Amino acid sequence: PQLANQIAAGEVVERPASVVKELLENSLDAGASKIEIEIERGGSQLIRIRDNGCGIAKNELMLALSRHATSKVACLADLEQIISLGFRGEALASISSVSRLTLTSKTAQQNEAWSARAEGRDMQVEIQPAAHPIGTCVEVADLFFNTPARRRFLRTDKTEYNHIDEVVRRIALSRFDVQIKLSHNGALQRNYPAVKTDSHKNTRIQAICGRQFIESSIMVNADYDNIKITGWLGLPQAARNQNDLQYCYVNGRMMRDKLINHAIRQVYEDNIPSEMYAAYVLFIEIDPKQVDVNVHPAKHEVRFHQARIVHDFVYQALHKALQQSLQ
Ligand code: ADP
Ligand code: MG
Repeated sequence: PQLANQIAAGEVVERPASVVKELLENSLDAGASKIEIEIERGGSQLIRIRDNGCGIAKNELMLALSRHATSKVACLADLEQIISLGFRGEALASISSVSRLTLTSKTAQQNEAWSARAEGRDMQVEIQPAAHPIGTCVEVADLFFNTPARRRFLRTDKTEYNHIDEVVRRIALSRFDVQIKLSHNGALQRNYPAVKTDSHKNTRIQAICGRQFIESSIMVNADYDNIKITGWLGLPQAARNQNDLQYCYVNGRMMRDKLINHAIRQVYEDNIPSEMYAAYVLFIEIDPKQVDVNVHPAKHEVRFHQARIVHDFVYQALHKALQQSLQ
């Protein structure tokens, strides 16, 4: 089974940032409202993620580290929903097969916390009492210590950290209600406090996308039938300076989608033809039955069943918002 884990790790764990992504998603699934991420040396030395979610019971710690042991399927009635959220039940097993992993957790029902350690190939899981408040702490040390080829493939600490920063940004944009802190080598780098009301969303957008973006973007808010789009669309000044600022979420998941990109490009071309760049943070909500999601962890693809309608809806919504602001 350990070999299978390591093969799966090749799919799931490409670099420290992929570990951070998986662990953050687990914390969110566990209902956390606060998540602290500590990184040492670009994540190759240590990735520690602590949350205040529901925790893992002592007798489920072992299970959490074994492959396809996801407990989440039972809680979700709709299989399509499960697939679209990408539940696969192999992230922790995969990560622990290529690192030294410690999982420490306490549930509300327990008086004490317990900790499970697994290390690389042998996967001898040891369970010990520990000190921890309700919630979970996952520590991933020495990533790829037993797969030297992969370890050599890592870039500089700074580059790996930048990838982590980007993963955290993407998730912070999708969950305004959760506080997220990120530190690197002991120094706090990011603190995104929880946003309680819609009117405070600008604060987080500014923290993530910068002042210039928020000051030169317009808000979008439209719906039609069972599709809804909200978010921020950058006007030329915003776009020109931040061409990489393109975030689109479909039902809470970050996506790169040709169809949506095309609609956005078209809106820019029709309204500000001189503009070559686009900057945006957009959230599309659609009936989950109307989309297929590619569940491969490294891909962010969707397929809309009614592609034309979605395309035209996005175009119209952005076009109208731009027209109003240009008047
Ligand atoms: P999946 O998320 O696909 O279920 P993982 O390997 O990522 O699989 O996690 C395995 C299991 O460990 C989860 O199903 C969950 O029960 C438990 N788990 C992992 N991380 C956490 C966490 N931060 N808080 C609570 N439970 C967790
Ligand atoms: Mg997971």
